[in-house]
Amino acid sequence: MVKNLEHFDKLVEAFGKIPGVGKKSAIKYAYYITLQDPFFGLNLAHTIENSIHSLKHCTICGGISQNEICDICVDTHRNNSMICVVESPKDILTIEDSNSFDGLYFVFNDINSVSNLKDMILKFDAKELIFAFSPSINSDGVMLYIEDQLKDLEINFTKIAQGIPTGVSLENVDMLSLTKAIKDRKEI
Ligand SMILES: [Zn+2]
Repeated sequence: MVKNLEHFDKLVEAFGKIPGVGKKSAIKYAYYITLQDPFFGLNLAHTIENSIHSLKHCTICGGISQNEICDICVDTHRNNSMICVVESPKDILTIEDSNSFDGLYFVFNDINSVSNLKDMILKFDAKELIFAFSPSINSDGVMLYIEDQLKDLEINFTKIAQGIPTGVSLENVDMLSLTKAIKDRKEI
């Protein structure tokens, strides 16, 4: 390391902590935002700060939102009869990008439990629960658990079609495969 560049080194180190960013890229980013385009760098810092302060989890679905309730949950034009259960709020962004689904979402994770999901189903009078988990033994277990917990409700359970490779998260699946997987969903 070059001497007396502690701030720069810290920045490189910070970028290196971002998943998927290696040392070379970290140096490239740090150089770009400090020396190549410092105005952009300051703007980026400001944007990051604003995002962190303004974003929260929707109290209904657990998705990313600027308000207590997200734009999807308040949108009366969406199909309330279908709720797509995903593993991460990021998956909502991915599926929305694919334009293949116009129902609602629910993020199932440690924060958002099955009782919240039950509340949501009853609130919207949903008729179909679509599991959009990336395939793994663990996700099969979670699906069975949720189904069992909700067996008293009048709701159909489906899951997105195979074709999504095992262990690959939704954000890394191409749009065409994702659209097809949602369209070809199967009863479970
Ligand atoms: Zn929501």
